[in-house]
Amino acid sequence: MTDAPRACVYLDHAATSWPKPPEVIDAVVAAMREQGANPGRGAYAMALAASRVVFEARRVCADLLGVPDSRDLFFTSGCTEACNLMLKGLLSPGDRVVVSSMEHNAVSRPLHALQQLGVRVDVVSADATGTMDAADVERAVRLAPTRAVVCQHASNVTGAIQPIADIADIAHENGALLLVDGAQGGGHLDVDLATLSVDAYALSGHKGMLGPQGVGLLYLRPGLEARELTQGGTGGGSSEDDAQPAGRPERYEAGTPNTPGIAGLGAGGRLLAANGAEWRAEEQRVFRILKAGLLELPGVRVYGPALDAPTVPVTCITHDSLEPDRIAFLLDRQAGVAVRSGLHCAPWAHRTIGTLGTGAVRLSVGHSTTETDVRIALAALAEVLG
Ligand code: PLP
Repeated sequence: MTDAPRACVYLDHAATSWPKPPEVIDAVVAAMREQGANPGRGAYAMALAASRVVFEARRVCADLLGVPDSRDLFFTSGCTEACNLMLKGLLSPGDRVVVSSMEHNAVSRPLHALQQLGVRVDVVSADATGTMDAADVERAVRLAPTRAVVCQHASNVTGAIQPIADIADIAHENGALLLVDGAQGGGHLDVDLATLSVDAYALSGHKGMLGPQGVGLLYLRPGLEARELTQGGTGGGSSEDDAQPAGRPERYEAGTPNTPGIAGLGAGGRLLAANGAEWRAEEQRVFRILKAGLLELPGVRVYGPALDAPTVPVTCITHDSLEPDRIAFLLDRQAGVAVRSGLHCAPWAHRTIGTLGTGAVRLSVGHSTTETDVRIALAALAEVLG
């Protein structure tokens, strides 16, 4: 037996959303209990039911994200795998990449690996709030032939939203692709890939999209093919030439899929389709109460866009004298407030905003966060900081 978790104020939605909605949990359980066969790999009733779960989840997510043909959306194990597929699948030795200085390790580490193989990586710095200036990207792209611009949609450190539509125009006018890490966009922003005009967009399934951990998505625009990361069984198309089938989505989904995870993500997508606009408005309202309260705490420095500027519901703080790790520890132990300290898998972002040496305390809000939660957190912080 494990201990039941203590009641807590959960402000770590940028890592993963919690609690998962009951509909998501029910869908995960049903996928194991009732649709437990392998999807796409049999014609008996339960295998067909499992195939339907995957098909429906893909359709729901495509509708939600403005993807006209759901076959252009591939399931992955998370945004990390989706970023790896988009970067390693599309970039080759000799290519040049222009990338924002706010990227997560899910982008910076694959790019580092690609650099060892001869990809040139040029970083463009964001401002102190973590926001990119499209004009800086344009200057960098014009310096030399560029295969791709890589930029996140929103920061997991400061909450800054990047000017993706402008950057897409710049990339395309200069013959480059735009590849986006949308881990913090899905669910927290009204993502419409039909109008964003990106070439690839990687998503977490378990953050704002409300699915369980271990699931994500990659969108690849029609006509743009990547080298698949993994070859293997796809449930069909077996032949003697051993080649991976070229069709979508199976080309990019070798092996038995995470059907329970995909079922949960489909349920999350359904909830967002029905309630997303209302939930996002409430998330923003509650987040602004939190951020306004943080700005009033003595000795606290708050990072990210101005209080009234567009943002996803994430921010970071440091304190004059108390270390971030100590603040996070005391918040948890004294008040059951769950926040994350450190570098948040994004040392580039912390270097950009000046907190690489110290790290920071991140507070992030989601669909389940109430005004009471953030008021408890603010009171606990005031107490901890003395
Ligand atoms: N990119 C960003 C900006 C993130 O915040 C995260 C997760 O924190 C990731 C990528 C990786 O996402 P996943 O946990 O789904 O692999």
